[in-house]
Amino acid sequence: MNEWQTWEQASIGLRHYRMRKLLGSNKPLKCPCCGMIKKIELSNKSHNYLEDPSDWQYLCHQCHSDYDMKNNSKSTFYEKFNNLFKEKNGG
Ligand SMILES: [Zn+2]
Repeated sequence: MNEWQTWEQASIGLRHYRMRKLLGSNKPLKCPCCGMIKKIELSNKSHNYLEDPSDWQYLCHQCHSDYDMKNNSKSTFYEKFNNLFKEKNGG
């Protein structure tokens, strides 16, 4: 992991990784969107991947997919990236 990179230099995958570390214990048990107790994932709200915790949210996989379909025109790319990221990090 390229820890020395600045936020601007970091890839989208690395930004997810860093933000997950930053938010850490704030991860909820229930999905804040649908209220279901499911595996929760980190999702970026604006898809600008900002170094700002308020630009990120925790959602279950289904709500995350729905959110990105509605809000991210690059959803096909994102889905591919997300699967790749899971393989590398075990979710
Ligand atoms: Zn949900």
